Amino acid sequence: MIALDLLSFLQDYLNIPRVPNPLQPDLRSASLAFEDPSAFRVKSFGELLRALGIFRLCSFPLLVNNSGKLMSVARTLLGRRGFSLLLRPTIYAQFVAGENESEISQSMEKLSMLGLRPMLAVPIEEDLGESTGEKRYDDNMEAMLECVQISHSKAWSKDPMMQLKITALISPELCVKLTTLMAEQPYDLNLLVRAMDGESINFPGLDDREVAHFLCGLQRLNKIAEASVNKVRVLVDAEYTYMNPALSLVTMAMMKKFNKDGTWIWNTYQCYLKESRSLLLEALQLSNNEGFFLGVKLVRGAYMDKERKLAEKEGRQDPIHQCWEDTNDSYNSLLDVMLEAISQKPECYRIIVATHNEESVRQTAKRMEELGIDNDGGSVCFGQLLGMCDHVSLTLAKEGYAVYKSVPYGSVDDTLPYLVRRAQENRTVLQGIRKERDLLRKELYRRLSLRRGS
Ligand SMILES: Cc1cc2nc3c(=O)[nH]c(=O)nc-3n(C[C@H](O)[C@H](O)[C@H](O)COP(=O)(O)OP(=O)(O)OC[C@H]3O[C@@H](n4cnc5c(N)ncnc54)[C@H](O)[C@@H]3O)c2cc1C
Repeated sequence: MIALDLLSFLQDYLNIPRVPNPLQPDLRSASLAFEDPSAFRVKSFGELLRALGIFRLCSFPLLVNNSGKLMSVARTLLGRRGFSLLLRPTIYAQFVAGENESEISQSMEKLSMLGLRPMLAVPIEEDLGESTGEKRYDDNMEAMLECVQISHSKAWSKDPMMQLKITALISPELCVKLTTLMAEQPYDLNLLVRAMDGESINFPGLDDREVAHFLCGLQRLNKIAEASVNKVRVLVDAEYTYMNPALSLVTMAMMKKFNKDGTWIWNTYQCYLKESRSLLLEALQLSNNEGFFLGVKLVRGAYMDKERKLAEKEGRQDPIHQCWEDTNDSYNSLLDVMLEAISQKPECYRIIVATHNEESVRQTAKRMEELGIDNDGGSVCFGQLLGMCDHVSLTLAKEGYAVYKSVPYGSVDDTLPYLVRRAQENRTVLQGIRKERDLLRKELYRRLSLRRGS
């Protein structure tokens, strides 16, 4: 109900007409069939086999549900080196660009040649109980600054982007505490902006040690944002519900400080959350009231299993929509809210439609046509993960849309939580992976019959 009121308010405020979608014939969006197996012609025979093998393994629920435990047992039995030898040519090679600059460069060049834009991601993250120390967070900041520099200097694509996880820079424990405090008393964004500017703020509700760590964390984020303004767009990832409000608070403060003349800092909205609609509408309202540009990464959400288990354990209501169809409705309706806002004020809003779902992609293309939004005007782009649904990415790029491939890099150890999530995701991203498997198989048979024929 609150979300509906807020939507009406925003529609009036932004002058968005409350009319049903005009019935226009499909134009370019109709050609997005995603059936073209030529997307896989650029892959070597080994890469085709690897992808097929990994997607097949990801279809066994027992294996996927226990992938975290299995990986940690394998790491203990094989040792660090042995484990790395096992993972590097298989799941790591499928989903991660590499560890050093030369490996990353190779992967980025390949994407660039295919018309895709690489979006680097340093997948360092922490959950509760894994907190390291201030030194480790400073090292992570250096890694992110290097990521800004690599994204910018190599000129792999127009409008470079990168992803950032706040829990690599501020401890998850503090993010959880801030989330709890914010439920009682919202924090003023200006306090955080002043702390980023170097003022020694005394945040209410935190003890001296926590205040000191928060100030250091905000300074780290400030440095990364300063390095990226006018160069690289920084997309902040969404994580778990028990810390997301704090992550959003910090991200909004960064937007207030750095998004005055352009959309340099972006936030992520997870549509599997029941509250996602109200969160996005509040962000639109805040950006209007505070006068900053809003960049939105729209995703369905990657932490479903853990969120559900935790809610059940704590006797809370499940924060996730009841079924995939409800998540899908939520995704498509928030997509529409953003596209309409963009069509009204194209300079103020940006969206990356971060999904492998063909229907959502097609709907975006269709609405862009209806609303007169340019394919490559900069306000709407698409995002998929490295190693997933290349047929979607390449078809879109061929049709002239801006498509980013999220490219994680780092050591096997650092990317492990990311790899576990990819394995789990390949179970939930059912339709996309099934299609990808069929297309991979077609390409494999095509090559085998060519060999037989010659
Ligand atoms: C560029 C990029 C950046 C991303 N960044 C983030 C991020 O910052 N934070 C984050 O959380 N995720 C992120 N993701 C992952 C994303 O949230 C999804 O997990 C992933 O993209 C799969 O969703 P889909 O829309 O591609 O596929 P689809 O197949 O359409 O949908 C699968 C998704 O639907 C949801 N779902 C599945 N089953 C159910 C069910 N029974 N009930 C309710 N919902 C269900 C889940 O979210 C699942 O991942 C990112 C993805 C991309 C491509």
